[in-house]
Amino acid sequence: MRPVLSRVTIAQGDEVVRVWQVEETEAHELYSNGLRIEKRYSIPKVAAEPFVHYRRGDDAREQRPVPFGIVFHTTESLALPFEENQNRALRRIGAGVLEYVRRIRAYHYVIDRFGRVWRVVPENEPAHHAGNSVWADESHYYLNLNSSFLGVSFEGPSRDESGQMPATAAQIHAGRLLTDLLRSRHRIIAGNCVTHAQVSVNPDNMGIGYHTDWAANFPFEQMGLPDNYRIPPPAMTLFGFQYDPSFRAATGERLWRGLDVADLELQRTAVASRTSLATFRRGLTQKYRRLYDKIKQPDFSQEGN
Ligand SMILES: [Zn+2]
Repeated sequence: MRPVLSRVTIAQGDEVVRVWQVEETEAHELYSNGLRIEKRYSIPKVAAEPFVHYRRGDDAREQRPVPFGIVFHTTESLALPFEENQNRALRRIGAGVLEYVRRIRAYHYVIDRFGRVWRVVPENEPAHHAGNSVWADESHYYLNLNSSFLGVSFEGPSRDESGQMPATAAQIHAGRLLTDLLRSRHRIIAGNCVTHAQVSVNPDNMGIGYHTDWAANFPFEQMGLPDNYRIPPPAMTLFGFQYDPSFRAATGERLWRGLDVADLELQRTAVASRTSLATFRRGLTQKYRRLYDKIKQPDFSQEGN
């Protein structure tokens, strides 16, 4: 028997299951794909803010009322053994994480170790999840993704002693349902569903991967997504950021193909523009600095309402 599924086309070759809200109570929301969103830790809505991006080419600032993408995080909190005799402690730690996330408005969503999905920050308000960060798609780039992407965080540390992220099966399952909801609701393209390590930058040393959560092992396939580790980091190709060997180590055994692709792409473009790689990269870095200073100015961030 084939399941009944209606699908939403987001872009060519990029479809997701159509997900809609079935019921809403004080405590939760239920969705057609079985997703249940818990609201006990939700921050009340204050003021919706538009999501911002910049046009490639002329750097024009544009905005719209819905997010452009998702950044996946881990909460970097303690992960006790996932066993029945730990129930009480697991629940206590999970509640502590949620209290903390709510206090600092860290993420829009947290998926606890039992696979419960908690909305903390309202979707149309910024959460402080991405800090200095860069991403891009074909037509636009994004600087400081707090004001352009949603933050979804899996409770737990980035990696255990074996180098694996100890996500539970319930978390992975819930992550898929939530990803499908957010993509279906906001028409988010697959290429804009990325991990914090892929977007995080440090403008002080022009290095990528200042935060390294999900630097490796993010289960893209299980989220219904292509392997987005293959995408060259736009921070490198557009703005001249680099990575150091310690970051490479954080990406683990599985080769993060996008890093190599970015290196090659830069070399090729430098050759084509008849300049050395260093000079070419310096130009990109200067461009980032200009934009970074510009977006910090209030008149720029206010314009274009
Ligand atoms: Zn993070």
